[in-house]
Amino acid sequence: MEIRTDFLVIGSGLAGLSFAIKASRLGSVAIITKKSTMESSTNYAQGGIAAVMDGEDSFDLHIDDTLKAGAGLCHEDVVRYVVSEGPERIAELIEWGVEFSRKSGADSPFDLGKEGGHSMRRVLHAADSTGREIERALIDKAHSLENVQIYENFLAIDLIRESKVLGKKSLSREEQDRCLGAYVFDIDNDQIYTFRARFTLLATGGTGKVYLITTNPDIATGDGIAMAWRAGALIANMEFIQFHPTCLFHPDAKAFLISEAVRGEGGILKLKSGATFMEKYHPSKSLAPRDIVARAIDIELKKSGDDCVVLDISHRDRDYLMARFPTIYSRCLRYGIDMARDPIPVVPAAHYLCGGVLVNGNGETSIDRLFAAGEVACTGLHGANRLASNSLLECVVFSHRVCERIRQRMGEEASEDLPIPPWQSGSATESDESIVIEHNWDEIRRCMWNYVGIVRSNKRLERAQKRMELITQEIHDYYWSFKITRDLLELRNISVVANLIVDCAMMRKESRGLHFNLDYPDRDDRYWQRDSVVRR
Ligand SMILES: Cc1cc2nc3c(=O)[nH]c(=O)nc-3n(C[C@H](O)[C@H](O)[C@H](O)COP(=O)(O)OP(=O)(O)OC[C@H]3O[C@@H](n4cnc5c(N)ncnc54)[C@H](O)[C@@H]3O)c2cc1C
Repeated sequence: MEIRTDFLVIGSGLAGLSFAIKASRLGSVAIITKKSTMESSTNYAQGGIAAVMDGEDSFDLHIDDTLKAGAGLCHEDVVRYVVSEGPERIAELIEWGVEFSRKSGADSPFDLGKEGGHSMRRVLHAADSTGREIERALIDKAHSLENVQIYENFLAIDLIRESKVLGKKSLSREEQDRCLGAYVFDIDNDQIYTFRARFTLLATGGTGKVYLITTNPDIATGDGIAMAWRAGALIANMEFIQFHPTCLFHPDAKAFLISEAVRGEGGILKLKSGATFMEKYHPSKSLAPRDIVARAIDIELKKSGDDCVVLDISHRDRDYLMARFPTIYSRCLRYGIDMARDPIPVVPAAHYLCGGVLVNGNGETSIDRLFAAGEVACTGLHGANRLASNSLLECVVFSHRVCERIRQRMGEEASEDLPIPPWQSGSATESDESIVIEHNWDEIRRCMWNYVGIVRSNKRLERAQKRMELITQEIHDYYWSFKITRDLLELRNISVVANLIVDCAMMRKESRGLHFNLDYPDRDDRYWQRDSVVRR
């Protein structure tokens, strides 16, 4: 069955929703989302969204902080416009109904938070569940718009390329392919739809599930990157994975983040013995940039053999902690940890991908009519390391830019009459060995955690590459023999993403930002401003 729309939006996080709300003024919008609309990394963002909102602060300071974190790989022009367009995009979020915390009453100034790497207080937040508040407001707004249709439990399988529809075997490097939409799996009804669109936006978020320990929700399987790669798009900087230093360590707590704001408000990292250690690694101690803190914890854990370190904010007043961190406070309490009295056990976890589908300043990928925004995209903002709370900002700035670009291109001829063949299931049969999927999921995530984690080496990367080759072949054979399921599609995608991370990590013969290789422990200035770019 074919569904026609002007704009196909794959993903219902901040990038997808903010684009959809604006694009609905230009035409019909179909948002597909592989779980419920709310389920996204956006929904779990705690700390907030960074923007210059205070007279003491300035664009130059925010730009400097971002460039410093990015370790010589940020694209300065991108940093400049993302930072300077920030306040306007924040004003739109407020207009759509997002309620950020204020200092006292309704009209008082915003209560701006401070996070690692920021020289000023500039993080707007809604207590400690900023993402949930943003999703709530934007979903309400999207539902109120006639031109927007949301399809829940619809999982995009693959992009539809014009060259394939026309039966072209290959394109020369100079020819640009065109995206006509996507094949989408309706999970509840076990059906595959053809979504034909004039313009397609990938807003599928990140890839945390490639690693064994992650702060990301289950949706973060890198589907957008894998689909774009299979379609022949350029992918960049996949080696730059941000490990969040402080994920709650408790056997029953699945992926619960202890926000950086806890360190911003005075939380101190200690060993289980109670000794502090961050002074050995950075003058800002517990408030050092995330990569330095994550690596320091990794080193200390390997030295001590402990399973976690602790984050201690018990010197702050209980009432203050309950008001500033209501979600974190109650979640910790659920596991018997009273943060006003007890240090919180924490470990580093895969958190954010700085790389992704390579886009220009308008969010255009290397495939015509295919755009990307949010965590799936590599825009040049983060470089080799993301400054905390800059990612939500990137979502809204780039979604806006994509929309503006599409507005200019609306007059272009569409490929509406080109017949798109329906999805071919071929001779695929029901799987009789679902255990293969579970086993490969586990193997990839362990392999990536052990060999392509916080500290890498040539040997570890080579090991990972060899193992990934075998697993990828097995998944390929399985994919073409059996009927698709959600688990199988996601497994195929994490295997693509894992391979891309290994490939980019092997290309970079230096240590920079989030990428640390024991065989090249220093930064090499020949790599200054050089992205790692790969394509199929
Ligand atoms: C715990 C946590 C805390 C964070 N805190 C902050 C913070 O305080 N500040 C900050 O700036 N950043 C924070 N981040 C990062 C930030 O939340 C994300 O980078 C950002 O929300 C990404 O938004 P997005 O719209 O790109 O993707 P997401 O919000 O992840 O949305 C992706 C969407 O795509 C859908 N999807 C994926 N694949 C498919 C498919 N194949 N078919 C259909 N739908 C699909 C998903 O279901 C989902 O709806 C945090 C991240 C986490 C995990």
